[in-house]
Amino acid sequence: MGENQAKELLRQIPGVDAVLQMEAVREALSRHPRSIVLEAIREELGEVRQRILHSPGPHFAVNHQELARSAARRADRLAAFTLLPVVNATGIVIHTNLGRSLLAEEAVSRLQRICSGYNNLEYDLQKGERGSRYVHAESILRELTGAEAALVVNNNAGAVFLALNTLAAGREVVVSRGQLVEIGGSFRIPDVMSSSGAILKEVGTTNRTHLKDYVSAITERTAMLMKVHTSNYRVVGFTSEVSLEELATLGQEHGLPVVEDLGSGCLIDLTPFGLRGETTVRRTVQAGADLVTFSGDKLLGGPQAGIMVGRKELIEKCRKNPITRALRVDKMTLAVLETTLRLYRDERQAVEKIPTLRMIAVSPEELNRRAGRLASALQEADPRNVLRIEVRPGFSQVGGGSLPAQDLPTFVVAVRSGALSANRIEKFLRRNDPPIIGRIESDHFIMDVRTLIAEQTEIIAGAFQRLVESGQK
Ligand SMILES: *Cc1c(COP(=O)(O)O)cnc(C)c1O
Repeated sequence: MGENQAKELLRQIPGVDAVLQMEAVREALSRHPRSIVLEAIREELGEVRQRILHSPGPHFAVNHQELARSAARRADRLAAFTLLPVVNATGIVIHTNLGRSLLAEEAVSRLQRICSGYNNLEYDLQKGERGSRYVHAESILRELTGAEAALVVNNNAGAVFLALNTLAAGREVVVSRGQLVEIGGSFRIPDVMSSSGAILKEVGTTNRTHLKDYVSAITERTAMLMKVHTSNYRVVGFTSEVSLEELATLGQEHGLPVVEDLGSGCLIDLTPFGLRGETTVRRTVQAGADLVTFSGDKLLGGPQAGIMVGRKELIEKCRKNPITRALRVDKMTLAVLETTLRLYRDERQAVEKIPTLRMIAVSPEELNRRAGRLASALQEADPRNVLRIEVRPGFSQVGGGSLPAQDLPTFVVAVRSGALSANRIEKFLRRNDPPIIGRIESDHFIMDVRTLIAEQTEIIAGAFQRLVESGQK
């Protein structure tokens, strides 16, 4: 394209004020703040200018109507929420990218009740004076875990950091090489250790660590013996690790605290649901850990939080550490956590009412029925049979770095289409409102019904109907 031609096209670009007068943009102004619409227009004009300067093709013309519509759509995008509800059709119950645990209804209504008014977050109603936020949820945690004391902070990474910084800064912490875990990229035991000021003393090998390895690592520089739950992986084959009981005895002999980072923090026995190998917090306390740390939003099924339970003297030291202030929990977390924990007083009730547990416990028969219902809803949304829809057995995962080697039998709905690739289906559903997240397996789009909640069958069917219609245009 010649220079003159480009100049001519650039002259055709309307000014901001002209675009502001156009129908589509005037409508956008009724929905969004003026500043956002202006930003959208400027970005849009800038993009048209760039396109002209970088050879726009022979038939390019500046279309004012189209430009206004495009600016209005851009304003919609700029003004939209960024944190959105999504439909989790992955079957991964504690999905780290999709918000981990869902909250129980009881917890959400309690949250609303506590946070839409004033509350006694830091007020002692007995004494009529300033109180501590850390008393909330403490007694229920003691009751459920059998520990002497408890402390709740922002997340489990914070709890581990706080324990290390309080009890071991400048001194050595003995950990097995088989337990130097990385969780989700940003939490790595060696890194948390060094940022807390504690010095990592690795013992044993990746697959085998023995009691004598710990014994010979203990010196006057040792501050703590630590065990880390290998949440998201398993070492199998020729392996051996030292039990918590043995470590606890060793710690007692040397006057050293034994700390276990449990990761998930399971409060009930999951073996009735076919999941083996996840211990409970209570058993860990009973086995002799002086301090146990775990998450609030993994298997516990509550809010994001880091929970520490254990010996009163150690918890008290952690509470007094000035860093606790930087890790402190807010009233929203405490309201949700206390309510969730109270549901555990009756285990059957916990499994019924806490979504994470309910989704783990749901029977294969029920999942089969749900998959059947979803498949028929999709069939109805596709009268011309563009899609091939089938119910199949499959496996779900607990997720959240919990129980990595164990899959839960489930039923999935698999969708394939000669006209639409699985990638196209996936992308269309991901951009739906609300977004629907599933997975692709050998050119099928797969939806696991385990993690769907009540009305989502209709939402999914509606999206597929639009997908099929869009494919026919
Ligand atoms: C998940 C996990 C953490 C981090 O917990 P957050 O609550 O995500 O901060 C730490 N340690 C272990 C073993 C974990 O599984």
